[in-house]
Amino acid sequence: MTTINDVLSIGHLIGRTMTDVSTYDEVRDPGRLTDVVARVAVGTAVDVNRAVESAHQAYRSWKDVAPAERARLLLEAADVLAGCAEDLAPLLVREHGGVLWEAQTDFALGTGVLQHTASLTEEFFTPVQFDDEQSFISVERVPRGVVGAVVPWNMPVVLTMMKLAPALATGNTLVLKPSPFAPAALTVALQRMAQKLPDGVINVVHGNADVGQALTSHPLVRKVGFTGGTATARQVMASAAGTIKNLTLELGGNDPAIVLDDVDIDAALERMLKGVFTRSGQICFAVKRIYVPRSLYDTFADALCDRVGQYAVGHGLDESASFGPLNNKAQYDSVTALIEGTKNSSAKVVQLGSKLESAGDGYYVLPHVVRDVEHVAPISSCEQFGPVVPLIAYDDEEKVVEWANDSEYGLGSSVWTTDTERGLAMARRIEAGSTFINTHAFESLDLRMPFGGVKQSGIGREFGEAGMREYVEEHSIRLLK
Ligand code: NDP
Repeated sequence: MTTINDVLSIGHLIGRTMTDVSTYDEVRDPGRLTDVVARVAVGTAVDVNRAVESAHQAYRSWKDVAPAERARLLLEAADVLAGCAEDLAPLLVREHGGVLWEAQTDFALGTGVLQHTASLTEEFFTPVQFDDEQSFISVERVPRGVVGAVVPWNMPVVLTMMKLAPALATGNTLVLKPSPFAPAALTVALQRMAQKLPDGVINVVHGNADVGQALTSHPLVRKVGFTGGTATARQVMASAAGTIKNLTLELGGNDPAIVLDDVDIDAALERMLKGVFTRSGQICFAVKRIYVPRSLYDTFADALCDRVGQYAVGHGLDESASFGPLNNKAQYDSVTALIEGTKNSSAKVVQLGSKLESAGDGYYVLPHVVRDVEHVAPISSCEQFGPVVPLIAYDDEEKVVEWANDSEYGLGSSVWTTDTERGLAMARRIEAGSTFINTHAFESLDLRMPFGGVKQSGIGREFGEAGMREYVEEHSIRLLK
């Protein structure tokens, strides 16, 4: 168990062992910048190579372990992860800036992904076979090899498990590069999980973009699972192109929430706001623009502002905090510049909520609602990734569907209505990986629903059987009689 005052030194995880290194970077609490929370290894391409070699060695036997046995071991690892929340969720709070329940949710969702994937594993490997007068055909699923995974800082545990679970269940081995902005709790959790698995099945290498680049271009890495920004994904695709690697990319979003004119405003806001300001808006499928019928616009905007006004921003370990600081300086600078820039437009920027005493020296930003926004304004067309949301009035449903789809992104989306048929009809017209009706937050996710984006929000899907398919090849075998 770690305690809240431990300043852990986080090395690379090569097999089950955390290695000592000569160079570490400090990880600071984004909610209290004077506090060093952990020290994390600064890796190089040499470290990447060691980690990949370890994974490659482990792959030789892990691929032949029976699916049922792999599932059993994953369930044991899931129990370990569930147990990690107690001491590691507070550490995660001090790395990524979220509030405690958000960090606990990260561990709980990650555990759920492992358990759900394990439950599907045996059946997933049932071959499809044809036996007739001419031939015997067997189409079999086989693992790809070493998987290189790269994740961001906002929900590092579940985003890692969304790659680790399908990769390991299907017989691949893993090398992960976490974000330097939230590496510690995740690596300790993975080290504990690794004790339940053969040596080398899980490896972690730390470092900056150079390390990511070395991993995603390594010749022995056969598959890359990446979650992060769209601009970074272009670099990952370029790195992977040299050896034609398979890719799953979960990228940014600019999710629209479309309110229909029969909406129950109070009921809608109760749920919708969880999808706007949770994690201070730093969630890929957060609600990032809200379209409201002009006839309801003022009533809806006033009711929304009333609720947002009650939020209190503070340190993530302060139980009174509704949400915490932004994760890092670049994020803080970009969100505050966006807010300041919007103040110079015709839109009305309203700062709401309050700061608690615990919000001291850190990247704190109060919640902002931007009223009277044009659909084409930068605040509504970019991924804000912060506690600021634009409200856009619309006059007819054709136009609002056109606007919702007028984006380079297509991750999540939602429709808010009291009429189920109307909601379903509108949902089907939206270009997105997921469309939720009367929900748009963590609670909208269901492991039976493939998760991912269209357009520049990504390639491929995570969760369940669809997620597992990303980590296997189809091997077709035919005997000609
Ligand atoms: P980044 O794209 O900046 O970084 C993501 C990860 O990629 C980090 O570990 C980063 O390391 C690494 N990286 C950076 N450059 C390279 C490279 N050339 N090769 C390989 N790896 C590299 O994203 P953020 O961390 O800022 O996270 C925010 C973004 O992530 C948002 O756009 C958000 O929408 C998206 N996201 C998407 C989700 C989804 O499921 N669709 C979920 C959560 C977030 P380093 O920090 O060292 O540069």
